[in-house]
Amino acid sequence: MAENVVIIGSGPAGWAAAIYTARANLKPLVFEGAVTEENRVGGTLPLGQLNLTTEVENYPGFPHGNLEAYLDHSIDKAQRALMAPHQKAGVSGPELMELMRQQAKNFSTRVVTDDIVEVDFTKRPFKLIASEGGVTEAQAVIVATGARANYLGLPSEDAYKNRGVSACAVCDGALPRFRNQPLVVVGGGDSACEEANYLSKFAGRIYMVHRRDALRASKIMAERVLKDPKIELVWNSAVDEVLGNDKQGVTGVRVKNTDGGAGRELAATGMFLAIGHTPNTNFVEGKLELTPKKYVRWTVPFRTCTSVEGVFAAGDVADDYYRQAVTAAGSGCMAALDAERWLAAQGH
Ligand SMILES: Cc1cc2nc3c(=O)[nH]c(=O)nc-3n(C[C@H](O)[C@H](O)[C@H](O)COP(=O)(O)OP(=O)(O)OC[C@H]3O[C@@H](n4cnc5c(N)ncnc54)[C@H](O)[C@@H]3O)c2cc1C
Repeated sequence: MAENVVIIGSGPAGWAAAIYTARANLKPLVFEGAVTEENRVGGTLPLGQLNLTTEVENYPGFPHGNLEAYLDHSIDKAQRALMAPHQKAGVSGPELMELMRQQAKNFSTRVVTDDIVEVDFTKRPFKLIASEGGVTEAQAVIVATGARANYLGLPSEDAYKNRGVSACAVCDGALPRFRNQPLVVVGGGDSACEEANYLSKFAGRIYMVHRRDALRASKIMAERVLKDPKIELVWNSAVDEVLGNDKQGVTGVRVKNTDGGAGRELAATGMFLAIGHTPNTNFVEGKLELTPKKYVRWTVPFRTCTSVEGVFAAGDVADDYYRQAVTAAGSGCMAALDAERWLAAQGH
């Protein structure tokens, strides 16, 4: 028997969609991703991008405070035992994700720990093929596979993730370690300019490291950066190494000159990557309409519909603009309601 609705992905969008469809009695099945070395290296293990971070200060409902008893009480004992100790300072990304997963499971959501690697959306019921070979049929599908931030791929960058290396200024810029401190932003496009502008509210100084001698950003964004007295452009340069130590985390960045000139060291307590994101859409390429940047295209304004009727998309996989946990969860809710109403119209 085909499932009513299958949700692919396990970030805030996927779990919000699961909670809503479960409470609508649709008995959702979630493919949360596989636990593989490839997914670990790619940053796409189950529970999504928030699972890769420490404090989450901007998800509504979790002010600073000690959540220990609440976590103990809310999350299944076996799962709780696997979690890192609570820091007693508001909610962490992994805690928030475990809470969302638990809430979906409490309403009888079934969860499969595997990746969907292939889909057939040409006829209904749709067919979804998991990496272990199983085929699942579904009347409706919600794609919530998220995206991943692009990193430079340096071992030193990896070593200081969450200790000064970040890929999200809106998420991390206000944290104490970055306030009134010198910071590095890597990139030269619109998002890099946006990150630098945003960080300039908090930082003491910003070095914007760019490989070329001109910004790739739109004129208005570039002008804003060039006029900001706190921002220094470090042209024709690429990050060679992130400098730091165990106690302080990031203390600086060494850059090399891309046209053969001398490199330099920049003292900084943080390095923000702004070199783009890659949506997790390989498995739907050629099956759903994608944007030029390979995000799933929402085909109806203010709805989560895709180019295939009965397939909906939610979260960062279809949103290269807001990219926040709360917006992903919001669109997960929208996709669940869209799927529920569409299924009802089909007589399910
Ligand atoms: C380091 C970091 C810190 C951040 N901090 C914050 C913050 O403080 N506040 C905030 O609001 N936002 C923050 N964000 C952004 C936020 O994490 C994302 O906007 C949000 O997680 C997007 O949710 P999503 O549900 O769309 O998908 P994701 O969180 O991207 O999760 C999708 C998951 O689906 C699974 N998946 C992927 N492909 C498949 C497949 N083929 N089959 C099955 N499963 C699959 C994977 O496990 C993948 O990780 C941060 C991001 C990063 C990288």
